[in-house]
Amino acid sequence: MAPNNEGQAEGSTTLFKSIKQQLHLDNEQLKQVMGTMQSEMVEGLCRSDSTSSLGMLPSYVSSVPCGDERGCYLALDLGGTNFRVLLIKILDETNDSKKCRVEMANQIFSLPESIIQGDSEGFFGYIAECIAMFCEEHGLMDSYLPVGFTFSFPLEQRGLNQGVLLTWTKGFDVSGVKGQDVVQLLTAAINKRGDMNCEVVAIVNDTVGTMMSCALTEPHCKIGLIVGTGCNACYMEKLSNVHMVDGEHGDMCINMELGGFGDNGVLDEIRTEFDKAVDSDSLNPDCHLFEKMISGMYLGELVRLILCKLTKEGAIFNGEGSKKLFTPGMFKTAYVSEIEYKSVDDKLHGNILIRNILQELGLTPDDADCEAVHNVCHLVSKRAAHLCAAGVAAVALKVKENHDTESMKVTVGVDGTVYRKHPTFSKLMSQKVEELCDGTGVSIDFVLSHDGSGKGAALVAAAMSEKVC
Ligand code: BGC
Ligand code: MG
Repeated sequence: MAPNNEGQAEGSTTLFKSIKQQLHLDNEQLKQVMGTMQSEMVEGLCRSDSTSSLGMLPSYVSSVPCGDERGCYLALDLGGTNFRVLLIKILDETNDSKKCRVEMANQIFSLPESIIQGDSEGFFGYIAECIAMFCEEHGLMDSYLPVGFTFSFPLEQRGLNQGVLLTWTKGFDVSGVKGQDVVQLLTAAINKRGDMNCEVVAIVNDTVGTMMSCALTEPHCKIGLIVGTGCNACYMEKLSNVHMVDGEHGDMCINMELGGFGDNGVLDEIRTEFDKAVDSDSLNPDCHLFEKMISGMYLGELVRLILCKLTKEGAIFNGEGSKKLFTPGMFKTAYVSEIEYKSVDDKLHGNILIRNILQELGLTPDDADCEAVHNVCHLVSKRAAHLCAAGVAAVALKVKENHDTESMKVTVGVDGTVYRKHPTFSKLMSQKVEELCDGTGVSIDFVLSHDGSGKGAALVAAAMSEKVC
């Protein structure tokens, strides 16, 4: 940070302080976020024309798995960086037919930008082609296969096997799909090929799949959480509280579309100039504002924008940036994880690693620059973890309220690259959840879901095909 004169040094300290202040959220602010979220949840459940920024979308999944599900299914996982096709066999556990065992085979297909930002026909044609390649490879072209489709975007559902796309998120922008039933579109693409015998019996959000797969071994699992490319949560709600769906008894899993929290302005007080810039440069401006403060698609970009500002003000890199630093998308979220990881205990090696990353971006940092970059990464990650914690705490309190008990243990099934790969995110989040829930009688634990998007969709498909429970 070699400042040229004292005035500049002072200026940069003030700038750092101001950035730190903007990104820091104390418990009082986080509790306010929780409170707002709780009222938006209730509002969103009540009316389809509500002003709530939470979708609160019924998933038509009415119970967690009972463990009796068996069979052979195809699962599709669409909504992250790649598209995956999985063959999932749910079998009796050896020596204990009351329990099940899951065997999986899967193949990953890339999703080129031309496909995810192209048109509907090209998109679903490509998806169907990937499925065909997988079936061919596994000798399944002639077998009848029920399909569980994990589709990780907001869907308005009227049943388990239909869903109308409300909006694209996370860099997907396929024309002609919004307002359409994606099950119908995929089915049409499969039928057009005429070489496969599969049927989409269930479409689920990735949060729902994650919750389902966790609930198989964790009976207290009532919440599913994804912190990956996007961010979202689902939970089991009392059907009597879900005014959009008939029925008074039993439960319904609600896809909250947590990422959209704040789209009606309720987060404006805590959004920074950097959040606004990330949003206005995105493919879906004014949409999914909470997600843009938390998820993997945006964390790197937030860091980059802050570094740009610090550079332009002469606070770092001697005031000299680089073409890459000033190019949107060049500071990957994976860098944020690496930078935080390497500098956890070992400052010296940490700085070498940070230096390498910055050099890749065409910069020539000194030690102070490395430290500054580390601080920025930490501030951005910590805020993301704490906001996410406020979200989880709000949902867990709602679950407890529904159960009308003094105290309750709630398990959150969780997945996503940020949760898995960022070195401090999960710890920061669970610590904050504990603080925020202190004195409420709720205790929360997080259980990592293993391949929830695949297994979960198959479990829902199984329950659907056989109605065994
Ligand atoms: C989508 C959600 C999804 C989440 C995590 C968000 O952008 O709107 O439906 O669950 O990403 O994948
Ligand atoms: Mg996923």
